Amino acid sequence: MINTDIATKFADRETPFYYYDMDVLARTLEAAHEASQKRGFHVHYALKANFNDVLLKRIQEIGFGADCVSGNEVRKAIECGFTPQNITFAGVGKSDKEINYALTQQIFAFNVESIQELEVINELASKQGVKANVALRINPNVDAHTHHYITTGLDENKFGVPNADLEKCASVLKKCEFIELVGLHFHVGSQITDMTVFKSLCVKVNEWKSWFEERGTQIRVLNVGGGLGIDYKNPDGNSIPDFEAYFDIFDRFLERKPYQEVHFELGRALVAQCGSLISRVLYVKNGVKKNFLVLDAGMTELMRPALYQAYHKIDNLSAVETEESLNYDVVGPICESSDCFGKEVPLPDSGRGDLIAIRSAGAYGEVMASRYNLREEIRFVYSDQL
Ligand SMILES: *Cc1c(COP(=O)(O)O)cnc(C)c1O
Repeated sequence: MINTDIATKFADRETPFYYYDMDVLARTLEAAHEASQKRGFHVHYALKANFNDVLLKRIQEIGFGADCVSGNEVRKAIECGFTPQNITFAGVGKSDKEINYALTQQIFAFNVESIQELEVINELASKQGVKANVALRINPNVDAHTHHYITTGLDENKFGVPNADLEKCASVLKKCEFIELVGLHFHVGSQITDMTVFKSLCVKVNEWKSWFEERGTQIRVLNVGGGLGIDYKNPDGNSIPDFEAYFDIFDRFLERKPYQEVHFELGRALVAQCGSLISRVLYVKNGVKKNFLVLDAGMTELMRPALYQAYHKIDNLSAVETEESLNYDVVGPICESSDCFGKEVPLPDSGRGDLIAIRSAGAYGEVMASRYNLREEIRFVYSDQL
């Protein structure tokens, strides 16, 4: 909640900046930790959602592992105190350099997405004389019912080993002396709010697990990925995702033997609600058909609306709440028509200099910032340093 007290403290600060509510972060992490811990589940935080050092430190301290999608993310995780035994490395296009680095660090597992990648990792591991732990990413063909840009588990997506290749994959694995298969990996998409999607995923995981076991391959780790969504419409009333309900689905529907571990890779659900992008109104422009609020923040600071028409709640922190509201198209200063945070956004009568908060921006916000238009480096403010 960004109340007037906090808004007063923003008064002298240069905008735009990301504001992180460390109390919301702490409560979110505790809720996720408790709900996973009591079921014996392991959580790896997906760094790509936000690799801000201050946030990473908190996430590491609570005891989560790290899920990385580049060599630099693996390095960052290690620098922030995550132990390599708690780091996984995923991604369809790992370079030789990245694989070599991760091998020298002896990370927990590579999430492998193709037969060719298996062969490359085997060869690079043999050169280093080490064994690489691998989890096979299987495309479960489950529809995440989310935006098509963030759906990853369908046959048409580029992710995972295609089902048709799995037979061959199993035989290639048997020949790879420098690879140890530790588990299976699945990830069907992001911002999933329909819990039946996760139930469908469990059914597929059970099937694939049996498929491997029937072929004499033991599976120690079932990694079901991330993707739990958050409530973008109601960041104050519903700031903490229902981790109990989420983990409960897997607890009930995932078949597992006592020695099998269940791993999760949550990103957005852990960090989205603690962040807001704070900006000022530069101009109020009355167009022919529209009223525009032109902000000093744009798609260079928060790209999600321009990239996939993502919704973010927008609050005016300066204007007095009134019964009457006006509809504004809230836009940024960047020379692109897609540089728009929201159309027909109901807001109180707003004016130049008003502070605007774009909410739920902690995930896929800061990390997607760019210097396009030679914009300034993004700034941050943390609630416990105000
Ligand atoms: C992006 C990603 C995640 C995290 O997704 P969220 O929707 O942020 O939870 C987890 N695993 C993999 C493989 C990913 O690519």
